[in-house]
Amino acid sequence: MQELFLGKRYHTLDYFFKNKFGTKIAKIPLSGGFTCPNRDGTKGTGGCIYCSGALSGDFAGKAEDSIEKQFSDIADMMSKKWKNTKYMAYFQTGTGTYADIAKLEYLYNAAISQPDVVSLSVATRPDCISKECFSLLEKISKKTYLTVELGLQSVHDTTGRIINRQSTYAEFLQSFTTLKNLGIDVCVHLINGLPFETVDMMNESVRTVSELLPWSLKLHLLHVIRRTECEKMYNRGEFRTFEKDEYVSLVCDQLQMIDKRIVMQRLTGDGKRDELVAPLWSIRKFELLNSIDAEMERRGAIQGDKA
Ligand code: SF4
Repeated sequence: MQELFLGKRYHTLDYFFKNKFGTKIAKIPLSGGFTCPNRDGTKGTGGCIYCSGALSGDFAGKAEDSIEKQFSDIADMMSKKWKNTKYMAYFQTGTGTYADIAKLEYLYNAAISQPDVVSLSVATRPDCISKECFSLLEKISKKTYLTVELGLQSVHDTTGRIINRQSTYAEFLQSFTTLKNLGIDVCVHLINGLPFETVDMMNESVRTVSELLPWSLKLHLLHVIRRTECEKMYNRGEFRTFEKDEYVSLVCDQLQMIDKRIVMQRLTGDGKRDELVAPLWSIRKFELLNSIDAEMERRGAIQGDKA
């Protein structure tokens, strides 16, 4: 039996952080007031078909508050839950590199200057990092442990068009490679269950990305959210969502094909329950994660054993 990851059969973020920093690291989701080029007309309008318009950051601090206030409000809550924790500041909302360079520099520096922050994570679109921004990210990476999250969702450009992503796999590869060459750890987002994708296509995305050896992967389950284009397609019967058992089996298959060095930050999505149309079983996130653990154990499987 190969080594487990703090009792888990996949390489968790907790395991990674405890090895790197020797302690629990809590993420503080901050809002930098970023918009998105796929909503303001620069790249497209309407956004990705599943995007809630809250710019994919429903749980972050309020953009009208200063970084200091957002941080202290959330850190106060977290420190009650976990004693002696350190923090990763996280720009999740909107496109975290989509602002002029002076504003980005101010925001990133403000975030990493907060008490007990040992790391910064910036989530963005792969087609939205300028030359100046790459240089800025490199500069920030010399001051703190920086990770950049790239929203890919699928390696298939046919799907990219269906979901109105307005960026290509080639653009992703270019940014991914540049960040890797700068020594910056990259987390890649993929979504399982996108309209018209087969299980083979989803697995191809996972295998392709695993071979690129990013630092980390986030696997999302497609959530059909109210008032999105995705909801209209779902209501017209154009696609269906996974049943829970199907999803558990799919994620376990994928974990087995993902290189064990890759940190798995997510195995499902996170949505507001009153906004979720389908699949409703996904609201019980811990039940789902427990089922994935149980299935991995039943198989005697561990991440990467079929990579
Ligand atoms: S790139 Fe992100 S924020 Fe922009 S529309 Fe798509 S999901 Fe929403």
